[in-house]
Amino acid sequence: MADMKIEVPRLQRDAFADKQCHRAHADHMETINLPPELVDNWQQRALEKMEQLLGRYRSLRDYLDICVRCGSCADKCPFFLGTGDPKNMPVARAELLRKVYRYYFTAAGWLPDLGRAEPLTEEVLNEWYTYFYQCSECRRCSVFCPYGIDTAEITMAAREIMASIGVANKYITEVLANVYRTGNNIGIPAPAWADNLEFLEDDIQEDTGVDVKMPVDQEGADVLLVPPSADNFVNLDTMMGYGKVFHAAGISWTTATYASEAANFGLFLDFNNMKKVNKRIIDAARRLKVKRIVFGECGHAWRVALYMNTLNGPLDFLEVPNPIHCTEFTLDLLKRGAFKLDKSANDEYVVTYHDPCNIARAGGPLEPPRELIRASCNRFEEMPENTTRINTFCCGGGGGLLSDEHMDVRMAGAKMRAMAVQTTNANYLATMCAICKAQLKKVNTHYKLGVEVEGVHGLFGRALVLNGNQEV
Ligand code: SF4
Ligand code: SF4
Repeated sequence: MADMKIEVPRLQRDAFADKQCHRAHADHMETINLPPELVDNWQQRALEKMEQLLGRYRSLRDYLDICVRCGSCADKCPFFLGTGDPKNMPVARAELLRKVYRYYFTAAGWLPDLGRAEPLTEEVLNEWYTYFYQCSECRRCSVFCPYGIDTAEITMAAREIMASIGVANKYITEVLANVYRTGNNIGIPAPAWADNLEFLEDDIQEDTGVDVKMPVDQEGADVLLVPPSADNFVNLDTMMGYGKVFHAAGISWTTATYASEAANFGLFLDFNNMKKVNKRIIDAARRLKVKRIVFGECGHAWRVALYMNTLNGPLDFLEVPNPIHCTEFTLDLLKRGAFKLDKSANDEYVVTYHDPCNIARAGGPLEPPRELIRASCNRFEEMPENTTRINTFCCGGGGGLLSDEHMDVRMAGAKMRAMAVQTTNANYLATMCAICKAQLKKVNTHYKLGVEVEGVHGLFGRALVLNGNQEV
């Protein structure tokens, strides 16, 4: 398909300067081991944190040093294209941190006026909070930067510095506190997790007449499936799709109540929380004595999963010591003849596919979801090439922006994705990330797209003929 025409918006200075997400509650901050409010000596603590990050991540120092202000990234950011606010250009966003870096950590600090350097003031901190939370860490800018500067990493560093002095986003911190309390983002207790899976078993039985089990905390299963918790409560076709795949292939599997969430919101806040959230999945795998870990349809969960070994490894207690993505897992079974599919089950749909940023620009998979979709339906239409795969546009809700009070920012950030969907005839928008699904359902209403939003396994599960499956 031809490229979509993307127009640079008319610049509207500070148009989104007052669009801030709510600040974290003190009790959530304490639960996740961060200061409950802005600490007294915040400038000094922030600079110490910045120094620590500069020492730990060579890439961060390089990114702050080497930008030549060529502007190639400027019109690639969905949040700039959607808001017209020049501070949402990646180069301008990064400059917010870069100016402070120059002031304290380079020779330019001696000549601030000449060196485009500035001290860390309350006004600067406020601007950081605004614009580093209008970046979804989607990394689209990095694809177009001739130096490979990844502004998402700069955003991550800025958020980590702010978190260390008691400044963080309410939604992200609340979600993290929920994960430590219940094992999942939504805060659903273990019995409700199991109950809902039983409901899904009943639904499948009613639909197909087949007894498909949706196990919980089953010791000795081959596979630990770690889905986003939303799949068990909202994206039900996707959750049932996983169950049908395991059933059809004759593979024993389980979910774990204390790892009933693939998503890792630590990625959006700070390293320590990211590591801790990741560890509980490994602990569950060890406790349940599974052979391998399969990740469900979640974008940023997969991005963290790729570093599982480095973060909390080694995973050598597993038969397959690296996590596996669910679409690669299912596609491999499909290629080995494990399934019988009836594409006509999805004949009411014209399907298109949204690549989640954290999958498309963090190592894939890119083709496996497409192969599964093609195997499941007769009508599949790609969106324009400059909006898919590595060029994908953010749904507008990534990076921890998915809170209701941030709706203006979310819908502006989604404008390019909505335009790309409108170039197709689709009435089914498939994607494999719970955040994308939640956001795209809102985008569907806001931009009147006329699509149903669900998962790849939702579509695949509908086409699976359970009685006629082959043994692998
Ligand atoms: S990471 Fe994405 S949202 Fe952030 S500046 Fe780059 S393109 Fe914009
Ligand atoms: S494309 Fe790269 S070098 Fe050019 S302005 Fe953007 S970040 Fe700087």
